[in-house]
Amino acid sequence: PPLYKQRYQFIKDLVEKYKPKKVADLGCADCSLLWMLKFCSCIEVLAGLDICASVMKEKMHRLSPLPGDYLQPAERSLTVTLHHGSVAHKDPCMLGFDLVTCIELIEHLEESELKKFPEVVFGFMAPSIVVISTPNSEFNPLLPGVTLFRHADHKFEWNRVQFRSWALEAARCYGYSVEFTGVGHPPTGMENVGFCTQIGVFVRKYHQTRESAQSEKPTEAVHRMVFKAVY
Ligand code: SAM
Repeated sequence: PPLYKQRYQFIKDLVEKYKPKKVADLGCADCSLLWMLKFCSCIEVLAGLDICASVMKEKMHRLSPLPGDYLQPAERSLTVTLHHGSVAHKDPCMLGFDLVTCIELIEHLEESELKKFPEVVFGFMAPSIVVISTPNSEFNPLLPGVTLFRHADHKFEWNRVQFRSWALEAARCYGYSVEFTGVGHPPTGMENVGFCTQIGVFVRKYHQTRESAQSEKPTEAVHRMVFKAVY
């Protein structure tokens, strides 16, 4: 399967394993991952955030309930919301999530945004699990036509050591453990380059109640809600 599908499947498997009730996808783009996740029966709240409102709105109506969803009332309730804003800013609508996914997002962040990102995601949102994926630059020589970066909008692409050191530092600062894996296996004989997409799975070390997490963090709303569906 294509690489993006392998990344989404990785998240789906993680959802099946940890059964989070509230999942936020940061840099959700055209909401393809959210659309896949709405079929996971453990999820009751799904939220997407992107800095580009137009890409988010392209196919967002796929997230609306179908007539059959009303005819066959589900055992669970599901609320899906989309928010226009940046991962560099704190907003109370981003609190209370169990799992936060950031798939191919960080390499699109400006230096100033990347600097604020750990405090927003690990410090402020502080979910039990964070998943971050990003290209592994060591794989690039195996990709035809890639000179500097895989996409013109990438601000950087890290090798495994660079991603590890950034991730370990964020984990250490905010009380998470992190394990590294990836998707997209290298061809036989080239195993030393590692996965095409590198993935860090961060798990919060200490228990935190939702109430204590939120009450300590009064913040003004900065994101704009652009879509809401209630099943
Ligand atoms: N996560 C999706 C996926 O895996 O299919 C899309 C990844 S796309 C390569 C990166 C997305 O991040 C774009 O939709 C872009 O608009 C968004 N983005 C870039 N900077 C952002 C920021 N500061 N805050 C939120 N989203 C941002």
